Amino acid sequence: MTIGTTMTTTMTTVLNQALECLQASQRPLLIAHPRPDGDTVGCTLALRLALIALGKTPRIACVHPLPGNLTHLPGAEAFESAIPEDADIDLVVAVDLSDLSRTGGLYQPAWAERYPLLVIDHHATNDAFGDVNLIEPEAAATALPMARVIRALGIPLRDDIATCLLAALITDTRGLRTETTTSAVLRFVSELVEAGGNYLGVMQRTLDAVPYQQMKAWGVALSRLQLEVGIAWTTFPLTEKQALGIEDHDDLDLGNMLSQTREAQLFATFLEMRDGTVKVSLRARPGYDVAWIAKQLGGGGHTQAAGYSLPGDLDTVVRDTMALLRQELARPH
Ligand code: 5GP
Ligand code: MN
Repeated sequence: MTIGTTMTTTMTTVLNQALECLQASQRPLLIAHPRPDGDTVGCTLALRLALIALGKTPRIACVHPLPGNLTHLPGAEAFESAIPEDADIDLVVAVDLSDLSRTGGLYQPAWAERYPLLVIDHHATNDAFGDVNLIEPEAAATALPMARVIRALGIPLRDDIATCLLAALITDTRGLRTETTTSAVLRFVSELVEAGGNYLGVMQRTLDAVPYQQMKAWGVALSRLQLEVGIAWTTFPLTEKQALGIEDHDDLDLGNMLSQTREAQLFATFLEMRDGTVKVSLRARPGYDVAWIAKQLGGGGHTQAAGYSLPGDLDTVVRDTMALLRQELARPH
């Protein structure tokens, strides 16, 4: 089976180091990022199943509950929301996290002295915060380096593992439509389906599974939609979230929805949070780049999808972000 992208020698060396970490571990802790998405959850669950098949006892954790469209994945009920500092673990694996703050406070500083930290990710903005960093910035999803790891562990990419990897790939590519969805990625998807991955089930239960409340939230966000030359953006004030019963950890997936606006090349959503911050999601059409903006403002992500949280009121965060988006639009493309 060919997995998405070709491997360089450096990647092969790092893959071997990642394998050594996992093979030496009996009780690894796998961490998914806050406001968890299909990639972080699907990859965490796939690796968990592979490690169980090897006779190990992995734990999996995420500070936030899984959104309803991911709870059907095999093993989803095993997620824990907090891990005590003195937990009986011997390795930490960060899955789809671009920096240590993305554990959302789950990672205990004391662990740095005690356990190796393995990072498996695909964010261009990843700052290589682990002891071993398996990072493939050009990969469509963390599912690709993760698939490599699982296969190298000697576990076949089939059935439930294939379904988890499909969920990761399909959600992170918004249904196989990002710039990173190469023919090799499509071939890999096809191979996962042949190996028993539930393609239609994943499509139906992850992408075509927007809760009613979220649909209503989209309505509110769309009613506030603004279009400046080339930039489509909207805000979601706290009062409106409260009226709809939307929690801060609910990922409304507004960025992806907005990015369908034909007249725009860049897209931004601004969600007011209960802790006084504003959560910004940026999207860009192929050829445009929002990763540098997110990085500059303390967040991270990919050229086409990035985000960050800033303290301050909506108007200020909108103004500061729009200034950078206009800069990006003015760059020669
Ligand atoms: P979203 O805007 O949908 O939450 O996230 C889009 C992309 O940006 C994802 O790849 C996500 O990992 C990344 N991202 C979003 N928010 C943050 C953030 O606060 N910090 C970092 N490092 N990455 C983020
Ligand atoms: Mn991802």
